[in-house]
Amino acid sequence: MARPKGICTYCGTFGPLHMDHVPPENLFERGQKSNLVTVPCCYRCNNTASKEDQYFLVYLAICQEAKQKQEHDRLRAKMARTLKRKEASEFRKNITKRVKFVQSVTPAGLILPPALSIPVDPRRVVEVLIRIIKGLYFREIGARLPGTHCVLPYDELAILHALQNVNPAPGQNFSLFPTLIREVENTPRNTIGNIFAYNYASNTVYGTNSLWLLDFSSGIRFFCIIRPPLSLSRISPGYPSQYQARADQGCFGQRRHPERGAVPSP
Ligand SMILES: [Zn+2]
Repeated sequence: MARPKGICTYCGTFGPLHMDHVPPENLFERGQKSNLVTVPCCYRCNNTASKEDQYFLVYLAICQEAKQKQEHDRLRAKMARTLKRKEASEFRKNITKRVKFVQSVTPAGLILPPALSIPVDPRRVVEVLIRIIKGLYFREIGARLPGTHCVLPYDELAILHALQNVNPAPGQNFSLFPTLIREVENTPRNTIGNIFAYNYASNTVYGTNSLWLLDFSSGIRFFCIIRPPLSLSRISPGYPSQYQARADQGCFGQRRHPERGAVPSP
């Protein structure tokens, strides 16, 4: 039977539609998949993202802010299983090669002893977050995010670090972010599977402009802004300045690995 045709939620091309899970299916255990959201997308978007999804799983697994410890341990076990697969050998080598000892500082200014760390490639994490946001936008609004708008994802821990002047990102000003994050926190929380929840707040005048809070394992949070690119917002009079984050790139810090030796050796 021919697939129905339509517009891809992610890239906007017209063609036969496949269904993609939001957030990526690989983050969830089999039993948790019952209420996962699916959105229509093209064959290409549906089939080229699995490496990025694996990378994102590793990224989440090494984060330490998770309050749902049991669920997070399950995620880490899933990461270990994923990395041990034969097909993942290149990926595993790539990650193991980059692991190094670093000394890091908590947002409260505490200097931690050196620990294993994996330098994060923010572009790869950002790519997955943008897909998730586009998928959730489609779920909430019932239409594709218009091409006039962009998605800017920020790692909450990196925001906290920047606010405390620990590894500040050059040229970025996050002073408004805590207020914006509180604003989103006050909206209803939507749960998908048992390790993911999100909130969102739309601008009352410019509905597409919105703030999103993605929460994995209760504590690994990403704050995302949907707005026109700065060039466009500068020329729209009355465009609310609070959404004019200075950076066009999101913000991501370096991640400490939770346990020494937890990365499987090749
Ligand atoms: Zn597509």
